[in-house]
Amino acid sequence: MLKVDKLSAGYGNIQILWDVSLQVNKGEIVALIGGNGAGKSTLVRSITGLLGAYSGNIEFLDKKISGLEPYKIAELGLSHIPEGRRIFTEMSVRENLEMGAYPKNSWKNRKKTLSSVYEMFPRLKERERQLARTFSGGEQQMLAMGRGLMSLPKLCIIDEPSNGLAPKVVMEIFEIIKNMRAQGITILLIEQNVKQTLEISDRAYVLENGRIVMEGDCATCLASAHIKKAYLGL
Ligand code: ATP
Repeated sequence: MLKVDKLSAGYGNIQILWDVSLQVNKGEIVALIGGNGAGKSTLVRSITGLLGAYSGNIEFLDKKISGLEPYKIAELGLSHIPEGRRIFTEMSVRENLEMGAYPKNSWKNRKKTLSSVYEMFPRLKERERQLARTFSGGEQQMLAMGRGLMSLPKLCIIDEPSNGLAPKVVMEIFEIIKNMRAQGITILLIEQNVKQTLEISDRAYVLENGRIVMEGDCATCLASAHIKKAYLGL
């Protein structure tokens, strides 16, 4: 579904990503893990069209998307649930959700999609008129995920959803991610919460200093001495 091939990218003359290749197949949850500053968000910005690449190629649904405008990539069915939630704090929950339905095709379906988002997140329905800034971190994350679903995506890139949340809320968010996959959405999950991420994902890529240093199925990654030492503190 998504194919990143030998991508190099950065900011001005500061290169951050070096020959990064990864693939996400339909129906999978694929994890991208790595510590602070590894380049995870830079990779996401390159995939979603927010940052141009130095070299390499990115395809989504067999169509080259490198060089396309971000809104065109979104219209193809790629949704980005950003790090830090980036919700519209002075807008209501419902208005935030409707903002997610702007890509062509999703706007005309927005009422139906809104009902299914409310089914998935009953708390959003209960508080649909409330201003988003009054929400807790976990609720804001749910709102960001709901907004991402409003575009009717085929693939969701979810960037560090567990960041700053209490362990109980993190478990809830990870359950929601599994539920999204069960509803047919393919997921690229970017995380620093390595153990829980590997437990719900099918395959994983490990990014360090802008390079993929390991890839494979999650059981193999969890058993790897490097992962245990560098990410699990074992
Ligand atoms: P984190 O989990 O902390 O968000 P990350 O893996 O997502 O980390 P990036 O945000 O992609 O990492 O950052 C990778 C490197 O790129 C870091 O060294 C960062 O300082 C640098 N960087 C990020 N944004 C810019 C920018 N706009 N200009 C210059 N350097 C940047």
